[in-house]
Amino acid sequence: MARLTVLGGAESGVGAAVLAKVKGFDVFLSDNGKIKEEYAAMLRRWDIPFEEGGHTESKVLSADEIVKSPGIPDSAPLVKKLVAQGTPVISEIEFAGRYDSAKKICITGSNGKTTTTSLIYYLLKNAGLNVGLGGNIGKSYALQVATEKHDYYVLEISSFQLDGCYSFRPDIAIITNITPDHLDRYDYKLENYVKSKFRITQNLRPEDCFIFDSDDAITIAHLDKIVLKAKSLPFSQEKELSQGAFLRDDQIVVRYGEDESSIYLKELALGGRHNVYNSMAAALAAKAAGIDNSVIRESLKTFKAIEHRLEPVLSVGGVLYINDSKATNVDSAWYALDAQTKPVVWIVGGTDKGNDYSQLAELVREKVKAIVCLGVDNSKIHAAFEGIVGADRMVDTLSAEEAVKAGAAFAEDGDVVLLSPCCASFDLFKNYEDRGAQFKEAVRKL
Ligand code: ADP
Repeated sequence: MARLTVLGGAESGVGAAVLAKVKGFDVFLSDNGKIKEEYAAMLRRWDIPFEEGGHTESKVLSADEIVKSPGIPDSAPLVKKLVAQGTPVISEIEFAGRYDSAKKICITGSNGKTTTTSLIYYLLKNAGLNVGLGGNIGKSYALQVATEKHDYYVLEISSFQLDGCYSFRPDIAIITNITPDHLDRYDYKLENYVKSKFRITQNLRPEDCFIFDSDDAITIAHLDKIVLKAKSLPFSQEKELSQGAFLRDDQIVVRYGEDESSIYLKELALGGRHNVYNSMAAALAAKAAGIDNSVIRESLKTFKAIEHRLEPVLSVGGVLYINDSKATNVDSAWYALDAQTKPVVWIVGGTDKGNDYSQLAELVREKVKAIVCLGVDNSKIHAAFEGIVGADRMVDTLSAEEAVKAGAAFAEDGDVVLLSPCCASFDLFKNYEDRGAQFKEAVRKL
């Protein structure tokens, strides 16, 4: 019996362990830290041996194959040893893909993955298809392959998951866009990060589709360097395309084969220029999956915003509060500011990821009337924007409640208070969900 060891006992690892058990492997799971009770209970239920609080090296090193959680970097000493002795180390996506014959629509990119993935899932559901949603969202892909039966999967896949993919092949692959992120895991080389994202295309065949942003210089530059076997379906807000999605006046036009369809921008459920891109990508994926134009149009009109992504919370005294806590890098905050049509009181800050704030200077000058810093160290934000909004229109806060109160004090009837932090949340919060939840709670208490 082949011996498979899973490193990491959270959603993806436990899902992979269950699938391995179902497929008859001699499976063992090992986690360096504490395993959450719900996952430990699942492992016990499936009678899967596991350890936590450290790895028994001899046991891990004697496995025939390893499924590694995306959270564990390749630079971890144990992973280095495994690679050095030639043990295959793969991701949960690669492992589950071996046992799945469903059609797979897979989405990666720096920003917009969750929105685009959720939108495509919604579209396929509305078309009446039997579809599973997984990858980085919700229930792991492996657990679904082990315990459910779907004809389609819509999978959000991070670059860390792609790093452990070798034979995995989507039927429809999407790269939403590429901007520098997570470079600490890629030797601080953008090229390595770009290559990682493009692994989503490495096994595509001529009958498959590749959907990408043709306004994105980084994507286009890399596309020039590779041989793409799949059908190209680009999307653009800057130019007309013979195949793909583009803008004509105030409509999105989708050209797929001989077919052309369109939808008015004002009909889209999701606002902001970034969501025009996400809607284009989703519409193209739906076309490639054979879904009717009427279902596509209706779905793009009725989709509901996802929590923590430009999520309108409440209007208090004529001021709209928006929760965009998931905006954890400069590019996503750029799109959030760009999407605003009213004067903005901007709540920004947290754990800086090497941000270059100068890219936001023009939008801040144009739209932002005051800045509430929400972070332990706000010095870079002050340095970047004091000269634009004025030192008297910037304050420092250390909690969501304080930030909302400060935002309310600056805001007047007709303004927007936007939490779009541009930074990670770990200095003051558990994660971005916690930050968004505390923000919403504070707004409700106003
Ligand atoms: P991801 O899953 O890639 O992190 P999300 O869909 O969760 O992306 O969106 C995260 C944030 O990024 C949103 O709050 C929004 O401000 C911004 N965003 C969403 N789509 C795009 C896009 N296509 N381009 C740039 N920024 C985007």
